Amino acid sequence: MDLRARWRVLRRWIAWRDLSRAAARLALPPAGVLLLLAITGAAGVVPALLGVLATYLGIGALLAPHFRDLKRVRDYVERLRAREEPASAIPDPPRIASPGLDRRLPEAIAESARARESHRRELDAAIRGNEAVLSNLPDPLLLLDRGGNVRRANRAAGRLFGSGLAGRPLANVIRHPDLLQAADAVVAGETQQEVEFTTPGDIERVFSARIAPLVGPAPDGTVAVISLHDVTAIRRAEQMRADFVANASHELRTPLSSLLGFIETLQGPAQDDAEARDRFLGIMLEQARRMYNLVEDLLSLSRIELDEHSPPRGEADLVAIAEGVARSLELRAKQKNMAIELAPGADSIPVVGDADQLTQVVQNLVDNAIKYGRDGTVIRVIGHPAGGTDQPRRARRGAALSVVDQGEGIPREHLPRLTERFYRVDKARSRELGGTGLGLAIVKHIMNRHRGDVEVDSVVGEGSRFTIYLPGAPARRGRAERGMADAAAS
Ligand code: ADP
Repeated sequence: MDLRARWRVLRRWIAWRDLSRAAARLALPPAGVLLLLAITGAAGVVPALLGVLATYLGIGALLAPHFRDLKRVRDYVERLRAREEPASAIPDPPRIASPGLDRRLPEAIAESARARESHRRELDAAIRGNEAVLSNLPDPLLLLDRGGNVRRANRAAGRLFGSGLAGRPLANVIRHPDLLQAADAVVAGETQQEVEFTTPGDIERVFSARIAPLVGPAPDGTVAVISLHDVTAIRRAEQMRADFVANASHELRTPLSSLLGFIETLQGPAQDDAEARDRFLGIMLEQARRMYNLVEDLLSLSRIELDEHSPPRGEADLVAIAEGVARSLELRAKQKNMAIELAPGADSIPVVGDADQLTQVVQNLVDNAIKYGRDGTVIRVIGHPAGGTDQPRRARRGAALSVVDQGEGIPREHLPRLTERFYRVDKARSRELGGTGLGLAIVKHIMNRHRGDVEVDSVVGEGSRFTIYLPGAPARRGRAERGMADAAAS
């Protein structure tokens, strides 16, 4: 190795400049004494200069290992600092041998770097976990900064308000004055606020918004959090309950006030009028029957609702049910010159179900067909055994039964609401025919309990088809199919 190369190694090895400066400073006092001796003639100039040089070199040689180790430690700290976070590993600490330094110093530095790294990893994992919780929360969340802008938003908020929410002023995202006012107040330092608002659009949704301040601003500048909770279903249920109570009271009050009126008349002016009394008693009987039917339907509905969550386990035969209903309503049909025609499609259609409740369903449907069908027409009750080839439009596994009438039909816009309690296409007509407005609601709830479905097809001026779908009974399904085959063969 030539001299220059050696010199470079030496410089890399120790902090040369620091060493030479320290050696020069330490050699200064003895060098001063030697130079003084030379000036005063007590020592020769050459020996004095040689003495100065020897002192300087001696001190330098003494300090060299100390400075070498210091440089190693310094370089190590520098490497730790320049490390690419967090991918690269902590480098091994250098070995030092200087008597002036604790040999465990580099290892202690490495240890503290490792501890910092592990804390950083834990912190990263915690942040990632929090992010995951935040973004997977089902409720929309918006984080606000001091300027009232959205800092961050979770996925649910993105789904509700669209993407790219970060950085937008809140007023651009939710245009609801009460909510904006509450958010401004919280950002300005007020305590938590709650606001309810409705989102505009075809499908209105009601949200309860809670705007809460953070204890201190978050590192990303968040000062408040808006969490939204969809209360549409709750508000709808509350409204339905209120409507139901109002409707039920109204339905009962009408015949009740009529009864009271007739009783008062019979006690007063018509006391001695035998003809009026007979007529009034007839009307009173009709009104009382109406109230009775209504109370019966209400009780039936609440009983069905009570065990709606536990599906029936028994088996019932739709053909036997249809035959029984046809027999029991034959007379009523005849009063309107109507006939009930059965097209069962099989000897029996076994389904998983409660025979009494299914009888109530078919009875309500055939009863409606009689009420709303034209005089002198035929009502057809058609069975569709499970797996049959003539399954209705929305074919599915399981059995079905349709009740088809030739009546005035139902305008399209009413179809989705028919199974709501007290919903009628023509209120006066339904009342006049003795309807309670609860028949189809009962059908729907019984079908819900059976994990089945009800479907309405109607053509105004031609008639309606009400179809119920039920899960087929597995044990006897073969028999039903055999019945179908027999029917097809005959
Ligand atoms: P209601 O006691 O009034 O008949 P339902 O719940 O059974 O009550 O029926 C609700 C409404 O649906 C009825 O008022 C009527 O307007 C309409 N509807 C039901 N069945 C038929 C049908 N077969 N033909 C025409 N309209 C019907």
